[in-house]
Amino acid sequence: MPSVHPEILIVGAGVVGLTTALMLAERGVSVTLLDRQLVGREASWAGAGMLPPGNAANADTPEARLRSYSHGLWPEFAADLTDRTGIDIGYHICGAIEVCAHDQQEEFHQLDTQWQAEGIRVERLSAQEVQQHVADMDGRFQNSLFLPDFAQVRNPRYLKALKAACLQRDVEILEHVQALDIHQKDGRISEVRVESRTLQFDRICFAVGAWSASLLQPLGFALPVKPVRGQIVQLQLPTQPFRCVIQLGRRYLVPRRDGLILIGSTEENAGFAKHTTTEGVAGLLDFAKSLVPSLAHAKVVHTWAGLRPGSPDELPLLGPVPEFSNVFIGAGHFRSGLQMSPATGTILADLMLGETPAISLDGLEAARFSSSATASLAGD
Ligand SMILES: Cc1cc2nc3c(=O)[nH]c(=O)nc-3n(C[C@H](O)[C@H](O)[C@H](O)COP(=O)(O)OP(=O)(O)OC[C@H]3O[C@@H](n4cnc5c(N)ncnc54)[C@H](O)[C@@H]3O)c2cc1C
Repeated sequence: MPSVHPEILIVGAGVVGLTTALMLAERGVSVTLLDRQLVGREASWAGAGMLPPGNAANADTPEARLRSYSHGLWPEFAADLTDRTGIDIGYHICGAIEVCAHDQQEEFHQLDTQWQAEGIRVERLSAQEVQQHVADMDGRFQNSLFLPDFAQVRNPRYLKALKAACLQRDVEILEHVQALDIHQKDGRISEVRVESRTLQFDRICFAVGAWSASLLQPLGFALPVKPVRGQIVQLQLPTQPFRCVIQLGRRYLVPRRDGLILIGSTEENAGFAKHTTTEGVAGLLDFAKSLVPSLAHAKVVHTWAGLRPGSPDELPLLGPVPEFSNVFIGAGHFRSGLQMSPATGTILADLMLGETPAISLDGLEAARFSSSATASLAGD
């Protein structure tokens, strides 16, 4: 087959690769996006689709900057994607209740202080007020917070819409591309052989989620990204029993408008094993019943697990790889890749086109672990 020459090759078609491809294509850049399987079948498909709010005016940490940037982009981005593709991605503002367990008072107050300091709308709720949002909520939670601007998206539909929008913008999407033969020369990667075809390009972006370390290590770049398994149980009820997300620590219930409820999620270091376990599923079901006892009667329709791309500080790694003049990375989004995807795609597109992103990337640089990363991976 003849060689093709896109300006930019993106390896990995999860939410990071897809949003980056779309943002580039919208600016008239020719893009090829490839994945070793179908588009969007890994962590991005498995996630719960929660989109916490942000406030750019008071965002003074790397995480808050990226979250608030994305929060600002989401409403228009979601509306535009739905208009263009005709796919309802389920984006809506549903609110979220953060409940406080008896033994987690300190963490809960820290969270309250953090939301207040960021200037995010937050209301304190008594146990009776919680029951106005969730009629069957267990009465033991005396302190809760309500975040009215918390939103959600149905990520499988979001990924489908991103793929459709990419195709509308002439992004070339190559699925089931198994073997990558990557050639580096003089600090550049400008050719990748995939099966019977050679792809040549000006710049390349790796957006391969939990697989980043294994793909990049042979190129001499140690990226400390590791898989963190998350399991989810999906329940089905005849109608939506409550509208808002309920969170307790790092676990949550996410109600969809058609009566489905996601119970998430575990955080496990299980390597690349992507199966659910009896312990994980049982723990999630117990958690759900302990918050909303009537869920004991709900039908279990599905369970699944996904591999979050975890970094040492739980923050994404974005931008150029210093050892190369044309290589970029978008990885390590851990628990927030869906929320942060509109901002991530925009930033990576900016960087690859030599433009200055709208927010500071201090603390999010792809190379921030380069020296320590080599040592830590070598010890594994
Ligand atoms: C259970 C769970 C719940 C979550 N809940 C939320 C949530 O509520 N809100 C939120 O914002 N985030 C959530 N997340 C996190 C979010 O899903 C991730 O941060 C995000 O999906 C990461 O996107 P990604 O594109 O980097 O990775 P992925 O979606 O994993 O995509 C990486 C892609 O690279 C491809 N690939 C890998 N190796 C190669 C190779 N050698 N060649 C070609 N392609 C390759 C893979 O096939 C895959 O398609 C959750 C995650 C999980 C698992």
